[in-house]
This record gives sequence, C-alpha cells and structure tokens, in this order.
Amino acid sequence: MTTSIDHICGYFSRLEQLSSRLEMARTLGDLLKDLDVQELAPVVYMVQGQLAPPFRGGEMGMSSKLVLRAIGRAVTEASIPLLEPLEQLLGKLGDPGTLVEQVLAGREGIDLPVFSVFEQLCALSDQFGEGSQDGKVRSLSDLFLSLSPLSSRFVARFVVGKLRLGVGDATIVEAMAQWQGGKEVKPIIEKAYNLCSDLGRVVTLLGKEGIEGLRSLRPVPGYPIRMALCERLSSGDEIFDKIGTCAVESKYDGFRCQVHSDGNKVQVFSRNLEETTSMFPEIVEATRVLFGNRTVIFEGEALGFNGETGGFHPFQITITRKRKHNVLEKSLEIPLKALVFDLMFLDGESWLDRSFQDRRKEIERLFPVHSFAIDEHEMAPSGVFGASRLIIADHPSLIDQFFDEVLEEGFEGIIAKRLEGVYTAGSRNFNWIKLKRSYKESLSDTLDLVLIGYYQGKGQRTKLGIGAVLAAVYDPERDAFVSIARIGSGLTEENWVVLRKMLEESAVRERPRSVLSDIEPEFWVLPRFVVSVRADDITRSPQHMCGRTDGEEGYALRFPRMVSQVRADKGPMEATTVSEVKTLFERQRNLLSRHRNVEKEEKLGREDEK
Ligand code: ATP
Repeated sequence: MTTSIDHICGYFSRLEQLSSRLEMARTLGDLLKDLDVQELAPVVYMVQGQLAPPFRGGEMGMSSKLVLRAIGRAVTEASIPLLEPLEQLLGKLGDPGTLVEQVLAGREGIDLPVFSVFEQLCALSDQFGEGSQDGKVRSLSDLFLSLSPLSSRFVARFVVGKLRLGVGDATIVEAMAQWQGGKEVKPIIEKAYNLCSDLGRVVTLLGKEGIEGLRSLRPVPGYPIRMALCERLSSGDEIFDKIGTCAVESKYDGFRCQVHSDGNKVQVFSRNLEETTSMFPEIVEATRVLFGNRTVIFEGEALGFNGETGGFHPFQITITRKRKHNVLEKSLEIPLKALVFDLMFLDGESWLDRSFQDRRKEIERLFPVHSFAIDEHEMAPSGVFGASRLIIADHPSLIDQFFDEVLEEGFEGIIAKRLEGVYTAGSRNFNWIKLKRSYKESLSDTLDLVLIGYYQGKGQRTKLGIGAVLAAVYDPERDAFVSIARIGSGLTEENWVVLRKMLEESAVRERPRSVLSDIEPEFWVLPRFVVSVRADDITRSPQHMCGRTDGEEGYALRFPRMVSQVRADKGPMEATTVSEVKTLFERQRNLLSRHRNVEKEEKLGREDEK
C-alpha cells in the first residue's frame, strides 16, 4: 500500500487550520497511523520542512525567484492564460504556494505516491553547479504539472523553506506518542530523539519495532547527541546547597564540539547540532591519531591558542576560525586546542548513564589533564586535546575560590558538575550549573531570543530599512515562541543592514503559527534567528505573551539591547525558555531584596556609629 501526496497534503491543510497543540499532535498521530514504514521518515522530514535531519543540512531553501520561474514554465507548458503577470500576482498573494495553487486551479494532476514526490525533491536538491538552475526550474515545473493544485501549494512552500505548518519537533514527538499509546511512552520517544537528533530515524524504528525498539537505542557515531545544558546559580553557597560536593571546571568561551568517530570517519557537531567538521581539521586529525579504528563520541570546547603567550585567545579571535574558505591557512595562524569535558560513547558502549566521576576518570585516561603552565608538549598526542581543568569542591568556599581564580585567568566563569550525575542528553538541569561573572555584576545573564518580526526604520534609521525587531523566548510546553521584547539598539548601522537582509529572506505575510504575540510588527519573520540580548531587568507587563497566564501578566525586558549578531550556534529551540525567564525574574527579585537588606543594615550601622 502506498500513500498519495494528496492524502498527505490534505492533512497538511488540516494542520494549518488548527491552533491547539494537542489537536495538531492528534491529527499528525492519525496521519502516522496511515503510513507504510518506508513512508514514515520522509513524511516526518517533510513536516519539519526538510529532506533529511537538520544536521545533514536537510532544508532546500530555493529562492522564490527560481520557483517563480518554475511556475512560469508550468503555466506556459499547460497553456494557461494569465490575467496579470506572475510577479504582480505574487506581490498580491504573498507566497509562491498560494500563487501556484491559484494559477493551476481546476487541474486534476496525477495523485503521485508521497515517496516518489520526496525522491523527486531529493533529486532536485542534489542538482549543483553551472546550469543546475535551468534543470531545477524544469524539474520543479514538471512536478507542479503532475500535482494537484493543493499539493503544488505545499510543495512550492516546502522548496522555498516556508512550509509553515506550525508543527515543531516537540509536537512531532507528541504525535508519535499519540500514535503509540499516549503519555506513558512519550519519555521513551523523547529519550530516543535526544540520543540521535533524528526524528525520521526515531519514527522508522517505532514503525518497525514499536516502543521496544526505541528502548534499546544507543548512541551511534554520526548522529549528534542533543547537548546537555547548564542551569544557573549565583554563588558557591547556592551551588553547594543544591548538589553538595561537586566537580568544578573552568567555563571556556569557544566552540562546543561534539566529536564522533565510527573508527573510520571523524565528524564534529556544534552546539546547534550542525556539522562543522570542515572547520576543524586539527581536531579531526588528532581524533584519528588518538583513536585509530576505535569508536568514540566525546565533547569539549575548542579555543584559539596563542603560541606566543602560551594562553588562549578571547572568543572574538577564536570566532575568526568559523569559516568555510581558507580553513587551513587560518588554522596555521590561529591553531585550536580542545579542552575535553565529557565522554558519551567508547568502543561500541554508551557512557551516558555512567556517573560524571566515572566518565571523568576515563577522560583523564584518554586525554592528559591540561595544565595551565601551557606547554604544547603536555597536551595529548598531536597537542590538540587536553582534559578540562577541574577541582573537587567539598566546601562552598572552594567553589568561590576557584571562580575567582578562573576569572583572573581571563575565563568567564565556572561550571559545577554533580559527581553522580549522568549525561542528560537534550536537557537543562542541575547536573551542570554555570556561574558567570555577569551574574554577580548585574541582575541577569544575557538571554538568547528568537526574532519573530521587525519594524521599518524611522528618522535616522529610514535609510537602513530596519529600526527595531520583535523578539521571543521558546515555550516548550506550547511548542511556541512567545513575545518578550521589542529591541531597537545594540547593533552598528552596518550590522542592522546585515540583519535586515537576513530577516527579509524569512519574512512572511501573517503571524507564523508557532509564534504567539499580541503585538504586531510591521513584518513577521519565521522564527529562525537567535540573538543574545542584555537588558537592565525583567519586569511584568501586560504587553507580552511570555509567561502570561489567566491571572498573571507576562514578562518583558527593560532596556533590551542586542549584544550579538545572529548566533550561528543556536537554533530557535535552543533559545532561552519561559521557565528560565521566570527563574531569572525570581533571582532578580531575591537579589534586589538582598541588596535592600544590606543597604538597610549599612544605614542602621552608620546611624549607630553616629
Ligand atoms: P547554553 O548552552 O546553556 O544554552 P550558551 O550557549 O549561551 O548557553 P553558556 O551559557 O555560555 O552558553 O554556557 C554553556 C556552554 O559552555 C556549553 O554549551 C559549552 O559550550 C561551554 N563550556 C565551556 N566550558 C565547559 C565545561 N568545562 N563543561 C561544559 N561546558 C563548557
């Protein structure tokens, strides 16, 4: 039995009408029930707007111009009379999907199997190089001509990367749970997803072997493990109260690298789970030398190394290694060292569920501990790897002391690790706790916000075409992006223009379905881009949706300013979450009342002295 593309697109059309997450998950769950095993992964990727898991670069991202040419060719081939030029119609309708649906209205099309459409799209995206554009236009217009208008609508949106079903990864996981029996199985599905970051792989295993198949899933080199993340606390005392005697490491400010070797091929994945292998030739080579044909997955922070001073470069210099061209040249100028801080897989065995202490022992066996009297010869074999520096703190004062030491060395803070903690893939919890200088200096850390809209500039900014952006945090419970701030400062004129160009590419007419905001920007954008934002503090406000409930106002940022360009290392789902904002708000309140108490005591003291 095969499922037709029209059947799938019928579901897509239904999904578009829904606003409740649960309804969406149920509908998608029903669709999964209808599919053959080999159709499951393609359909799940298509729902994600991809042809493959994101770490294989699965999005097509054809330009609207090219799709417009394909529509034009289809119209000519089918001798369809047009009342208006296509460009004009596109201007009115706003997206190539609605356009192709309208111009092809009334045509029947052949109801192709979804698998065949998926293969044609893969073939289309594989066309590269000179002359490929004409080939793409031809293939896509032929595809439009063989589809119904409804299916053409979704295919056109898919190829330009704007499918906009409003279904995020969390909803897809929920749908799989609905399909396989409900709430009880959801944690097993989530865990499997965290281990391989590939919803297509998870759904295929579910289809073949059911939930039992997922229970036995192990990490596999080549499939990034979703990264473990840190909670925040603001003092050694707080950390010690929470996790007792713990390991404390320097918090290095470089690139997080998850290194995989299947015994033959070495791959590196970023914080964002993108493949960054080509950026790090020295890490690839050193892994080969060190592990040969052994299998391994480990994690570390890569930092630019200054051969003259024997110290690490600040992030602004390390970041210059992030490039596609002249990588080797740059690697001679700024060589990298990687400080290894975790081990997840070795010689075919998962280490995820072993305690931090055990994992650390093995790390120290594999990678010599890096001493701060930097001497290249002390580092493991090719001088690239060293275990991160670490102390065991059995008293809060030792945490604070270590914190002060690493700040003197120029690092931005520490990460404390629970000794018996496992590696919790894809989760932020108190197994790892970060303490940064910024927590002591101001009320809050920076927040990583997702851009959901922008405003045209006024006055001085008119010439830039952008004056402010509307930003959101991620709400995992609703699988949605909820507004928290309008931001109009922090970037240079040049960077505003760069940002505007990126946003223009992702602009859409209507509020994307995964975005929740009462405030309407002049232009909505698909929630893709993450920027770091600093603010004076967090306030309660009726304007924004972040944290708003029936009885309570939402949260907003006071005097927000962008402190980074779009972050390449974070995707929208890795942005700050609503619950993190709540925690920061509570911490800020506690700090304020502590400050007030100290001030009161000082005042009383002064009065006593008088
Ligand atoms: P997060 O990753 O928590 O969402 P972020 O990307 O803004 O936040 P930070 O808050 O600065 O990053 O801190 C976490 C990052 O610190 C990790 O993702 C990792 O790249 C880096 N890091 C540096 N040193 C260590 C270490 N010793 N152990 C674990 N992570 C470390």
